[in-house]
Amino acid sequence: MDLSKLTIAAFQEGLRAKDFSAREVADAYFAAIDAQNGALNAYLSLTKDLARATAAEVDAALAEGKELPPLAGVPLALKDNMLVKGYPATASSKMLEHYTAAYDATVVEKLKFERAVVLGKTNLDEFAMGSSTENSAFGVTKNPHDTARVAGGSSGGSAAAVAAGMALAALGSDTGGSIRQPAALCGVVGMKPTYGTVSRFGLIAMASSLDQIGPFTKTAEDAKLLFRAIRGKDVHDATSIDVVKKPFHYEPKKEDIKKLVIGIPKEYFIEGLHPEVAKGVEEAITRLRKLGFSFKEVSLPHTKYALSTYYIIMPAEVSTNLARLDGIRYARNVRDAKKLQELYVKNKAYGFGKETRRRVLLGTFVLSSGYYDAYYAKAQKVRRLIKEDFDTTFKEVDVILSPVTPTPAFTIGEKTNDPLSMYLSDIFTIPANMAGIPAISIPVKKYTVGSGELPVAFQLMGKHFHEEDILGIGELYEARQ
Ligand code: GLN
Repeated sequence: MDLSKLTIAAFQEGLRAKDFSAREVADAYFAAIDAQNGALNAYLSLTKDLARATAAEVDAALAEGKELPPLAGVPLALKDNMLVKGYPATASSKMLEHYTAAYDATVVEKLKFERAVVLGKTNLDEFAMGSSTENSAFGVTKNPHDTARVAGGSSGGSAAAVAAGMALAALGSDTGGSIRQPAALCGVVGMKPTYGTVSRFGLIAMASSLDQIGPFTKTAEDAKLLFRAIRGKDVHDATSIDVVKKPFHYEPKKEDIKKLVIGIPKEYFIEGLHPEVAKGVEEAITRLRKLGFSFKEVSLPHTKYALSTYYIIMPAEVSTNLARLDGIRYARNVRDAKKLQELYVKNKAYGFGKETRRRVLLGTFVLSSGYYDAYYAKAQKVRRLIKEDFDTTFKEVDVILSPVTPTPAFTIGEKTNDPLSMYLSDIFTIPANMAGIPAISIPVKKYTVGSGELPVAFQLMGKHFHEEDILGIGELYEARQ
């Protein structure tokens, strides 16, 4: 079995045709992890007992001839900021190094209900803050296509695991691009759903008004399968929405997908776009034209403010969310403090990495009295303008196409001393989080690990709750590869 080519759709068929058992496939993935994780550092911990117990249940149900749920037996990886009861959830921070999750995240509950096989927890930038997984307290994740390069971030471990055939699919979280950017750099599909469609309960919060969980897969078809399994209203997350019910329900026919008009925003084709990226995106447009799609140039004039607005709103929410990590709750690290103040200072200094501290400081500053109106309140107004750009443009076109990242995977260490150039990695992905719309990263072509090529991807952004549009175009695109 070639794990690097297996898709969820092919797995479902093979399992039901008894070509293999769930246990055999899970073991094959664990063998692939044993062979490669030392070099790539995609996984921080494995959940072998859970995986084997679930695979055994699936095989037993199959032997009894029972109907299986769609994700039964599917071997998945989870970013280590999602809680799996009884297992570690470190968010790649020393602060949570000894923390064990007390409950399941809602997405995990849903995966368990479907009897998906959870293989383990993947590396990320500390608390999902970064674009390269270099901010992890537990070492960098390497890009399977070139181990001198980053896998992207913050969900670098999930992207690398899928690209290297160490998981059939994975979940990540995306606050400003953390699913789409590593997916692009590793040559896999990654989707950030509409804000609110997937519950954030049990996801260690970074910036709550932007965070969203989504799938990493090899194909758009698989992304659809995984997305459908994890979406839905959750009583534990007040921002979650029942997308299957009216008025949000939207399931276009294949013929209707073909009629969608795709907008090309001029603000996304900037100077400094790497020639390989520009070429790849051109290639994708040409292929979509051949499939019959029509294109229209559009303008999203406030795009230029997205990055700076994000770096006010995001740190403000980060500083609030991370305040709970005071060294008293969620596993204590430093124990030799004599006073409360000293305990806080010592734990935060020990537990938080440099980037985390930078953002907590920034966020505390922009929220402080006297600066709140000048920064945070102003940024919220600009955020509205960015969203309105999309609302207006979506009256003219159905979907927007752009690059995902300005460059292909960069080398490890290249941007670590220059936070601003690192922040620029997300210039094309942040606007979708600001507006809450769904967006997907699709590889321009199929990339095989070991071919010496660096992957390039294109992004499709859709209307709120119209994941089916971007997934549908992705499926048509892949069918022609
Ligand atoms: N790279 C962006 C940041 O550093 C986005 C991170 C994310 O989406 N979690 O904030």
